[in-house]
Amino acid sequence: SVTQEVSLKSKLKEVFGFNQFRGTQEAIINNIIRGHNTFVIMPTGAGKSLCYQLPALVLDGTAIVISPLIALMKNQVDQLNAFGVNAQFLNSTLSKAEINKVKKETISGEVKLLYVAPESLTKDETIDFLQKAKISFVAIDEAHCISEWGHDFRPEYRKIRGIIDNIGNLPIIALTATATPKVQLDIQKNLQMDDASVFKSSFNRTNLYYEVRPKHNTKKQLIQYVKKHRGKSGIVYCLSRKKVEEIAELLRVNDVKALPYHAGLDASVRMANQDAFLNEDADVIVATIAFGMGIDKPDVRFVIHYDTPKSIEGYYQETGRGGRDGLEGNCLMFYSYDDIVKLEKFNKDKPVTERDNSKLLLQEMASYADSAVCRRKQLLHYFGEIYEKDCQFCDNCLHPRERFEAQDEVSLA
Ligand code: ADP
Ligand code: MG
Repeated sequence: SVTQEVSLKSKLKEVFGFNQFRGTQEAIINNIIRGHNTFVIMPTGAGKSLCYQLPALVLDGTAIVISPLIALMKNQVDQLNAFGVNAQFLNSTLSKAEINKVKKETISGEVKLLYVAPESLTKDETIDFLQKAKISFVAIDEAHCISEWGHDFRPEYRKIRGIIDNIGNLPIIALTATATPKVQLDIQKNLQMDDASVFKSSFNRTNLYYEVRPKHNTKKQLIQYVKKHRGKSGIVYCLSRKKVEEIAELLRVNDVKALPYHAGLDASVRMANQDAFLNEDADVIVATIAFGMGIDKPDVRFVIHYDTPKSIEGYYQETGRGGRDGLEGNCLMFYSYDDIVKLEKFNKDKPVTERDNSKLLLQEMASYADSAVCRRKQLLHYFGEIYEKDCQFCDNCLHPRERFEAQDEVSLA
């Protein structure tokens, strides 16, 4: 209704400070408010969080948000609290007393959004508690974690549907930035959401500039590149923890405010480094792919893949963390066939079917890197979208000559 439209928009302004909904946000929000199952497929940075945050504020009771990472929950809860929203999380970082406080405030109806880690959700005591609370709906963020074909499979995610059924008959909104049809099907099937309204938007990120360079004098190239973007926020992805440490140190001795992030660091150090990056005490975070899922820093100006990524899907997710505010985002990847060979060796211990799949993903990555075709066209094609023209905003479109020379260098190496 018109009044509802007005009130949604005024909430958007009042709580989040935004004047306009983006894309299909408003239709999605209305769909979940009406109690319909909803499946949202939109690229990273499109604004998926708002699609469950805003309805949670409008509806009675508490919305459950299932989210795979503690860092991700903390990021969103901090942000919502800063907006004056009562959002809390339940995960392994809380003490018994803190857990009890969250439960009490939820049952009394004060908490509008309760973020829960899947491991906490599967506990009997959590289910008992949620049965006592008034739940408005369940949001499953990063829903691709359900699928073994996704790049971030979490076995506990496959139990979510059964648990929701134990809590009550609740509408579900599942959200993902995974663009491959196979993963989408898997998600819908596992969540038994055949009836869901599906909102899928284009995966084109027009403000991201894609560039691939051969791995050649990489350290020097990296330093030059980062210095060119001095004072701006950037992410440098490396394959191993050791490399992360090495590159963070390299940048530091070159006067760049850089910090490392990987799963081998103490949780407290990891969180402190993430916070320093989010608060701009550090400009650059050097990380393994453990960093970044769902992290909302709108003004990341560059994303560098120092090592060749394992799949186009992963690469696309990681580059998607650049330019979320719609402004400049530079995506630079260093490529060498040696990296592909190295990654293939890691696959040796995997079961056969998984190994074949990983190998295929790697081959696709290599052919993307090697190709002289418009990068955007290739990426969108990979996700089943047709992009007719050349984008004029990638290395292959803007510097076709240099590319060919660079490729010769690689094949000689
Ligand atoms: P996603 O989960 O789809 O990757 P996020 O929910 O993290 O994206 O949102 C990305 C950025 O877009 C955030 O900085 C968010 O505040 C901003 N954003 C979301 N919706 C709007 C809007 N309607 N107007 C302006 N900015 C928005
Ligand atoms: Mg998100």
